[in-house]
Amino acid sequence: MILETSVAIVGSGMGGATTAYGLAQAGIDCLVIERGDFVKKEDANWSAREIFINQRYKPNEKWIDHKGREFTPGVHYLVGGNTKVYGSSLPRFREQDFLETKHKEGISPAWPFSYADLEPYYCQAEQLYKVHGATGEDPTEPHRSQPFPYPALAHEKYISNLATKLTAAGVKPHSNAMGVDLKSDGKCIRCGTCDGFVCKLDAKSDAQTCALEPAIKTGKVKLETNLKVTKVVVKNGKVDHLLAQREGLEVKIVAKKYVLSLGAVNTAALLLRSGAVANSSGLLGKNFMMHNNAHIAAFNVKSKNDVIFQKTLSFSDWYFDGGSGYPLGAVQLIGKVQPIMMKSYATKVPLAILKFIADRSVEFVVMNEDLPDTSNRVEINSNGMIQIYRKAVNTSAHRELMQKTKKVLRKSGFQAIFVQPFDISMNSHQCGTSVAGHDPKLSVVDQYCRTHDVENLYLIDSGFFPSSAAMNPALTIAAQALRVVDKSGLKLFN
Ligand SMILES: Cc1cc2nc3c(=O)[nH]c(=O)nc-3n(C[C@H](O)[C@H](O)[C@H](O)COP(=O)(O)OP(=O)(O)OC[C@H]3O[C@@H](n4cnc5c(N)ncnc54)[C@H](O)[C@@H]3O)c2cc1C
Repeated sequence: MILETSVAIVGSGMGGATTAYGLAQAGIDCLVIERGDFVKKEDANWSAREIFINQRYKPNEKWIDHKGREFTPGVHYLVGGNTKVYGSSLPRFREQDFLETKHKEGISPAWPFSYADLEPYYCQAEQLYKVHGATGEDPTEPHRSQPFPYPALAHEKYISNLATKLTAAGVKPHSNAMGVDLKSDGKCIRCGTCDGFVCKLDAKSDAQTCALEPAIKTGKVKLETNLKVTKVVVKNGKVDHLLAQREGLEVKIVAKKYVLSLGAVNTAALLLRSGAVANSSGLLGKNFMMHNNAHIAAFNVKSKNDVIFQKTLSFSDWYFDGGSGYPLGAVQLIGKVQPIMMKSYATKVPLAILKFIADRSVEFVVMNEDLPDTSNRVEINSNGMIQIYRKAVNTSAHRELMQKTKKVLRKSGFQAIFVQPFDISMNSHQCGTSVAGHDPKLSVVDQYCRTHDVENLYLIDSGFFPSSAAMNPALTIAAQALRVVDKSGLKLFN
């Protein structure tokens, strides 16, 4: 079987779906090839046990860590990709994140374009993904040429009280930038099953709902599901075709231009498996990053947490400078953690005790920038499996952010803080495996995500990030996808 199109886009997550949306608006025919299927609307969408214990929406796939141990990766092979389960926290990176910055344990490199170059596309991406937010609260907020499309999500009473306590403890809590459909006629009901869950109501701003489906409605974009791309075939310096598999049958995909948006690890893995395509720099798969993150549960025996939609507040006071002249990161509320979700980490603690804790705790992610290091990398091992080598960099800055956060939380009345550090399996913020840059010797793609080596091949997912910043990545992926469509030759045909 042969499928033909103008632009073949592999992957329907944040990068792929947003690229398809941009191309559809420009009147370009494209085909999105997705290895996964549509997520069914079912009770399991909102079941913490199904998602966090039975891992219902995770693939039956193992990757290997640097010691040869198997782990289940933080990827979801679904229409919409990882955004089907993401937390929809959609902040912009800061101006400084695009510049070379000295960190405690090294340098965060400059990007080949500036915040100002991306800013108009951040505005478009915020419209597309219905971002709610507020200005004037966060001392680190970047310049914006347009206001947030929608006002910030109001805090529930418990969170307003928390904001008051945090302020008294010396930090400046601010509203989260969140992508949900909460406008007056919106579908969002502010339930407790958003972050980490699939939205049964299509009210979370995932890539399928906000970008792919509107793109398909234009008639310009077609979608093939359950079709896994296995090889990129290059002839005479150009991609000639892709090979893909569906239930044992081989499918050939022929296009004029090709976009790989499989997610940072899988895009690198596909190119490595295809004979190291676009790797004259030797950097394909290298500089793998995933943030230095930990979840914390702050526990106050005297105060019950009755919140439903918890993820409305952050504090970023030490984002640029933790007090010693180098950046630390951000502290952000996550969706309210249910006792059974704690069980996936605290496996030996009885559920009744976890319930006692969860009823009185509030949960955050403590997020630090990871720094690029070529020895942190994606490889294909001798059995054909994905192997990730990673030794976390900048961990002393993470420890410092954790200490400062704990101090503020203790001052805010919490008696205990439980910490769950992220391990290699929690790599959902993966990035950096096909870094963007001007110099083909020092980067895999140019500033518009076109590979330096193969003129009709673009890599549009979090792989292009030269640095990870200490902010959630998805809005930046979407903004760059829209910028690539607007500014590069991707939509131009002779
Ligand atoms: C639980 C969770 C919570 C998160 N919360 C947030 C958040 O609040 N804010 C935020 O900014 N980010 C969040 N993230 C991260 C965010 O989802 C990712 O950064 C983003 O989705 C990455 O976009 P991408 O296009 O690089 O990859 P993805 O969105 O993962 O898309 C890759 C797509 O490629 C497909 N694919 C892979 N291999 C093949 C193949 N061989 N053939 C065909 N198709 C293929 C996959 O099935 C998938 O659909 C979260 C992630 C998770 C898992």
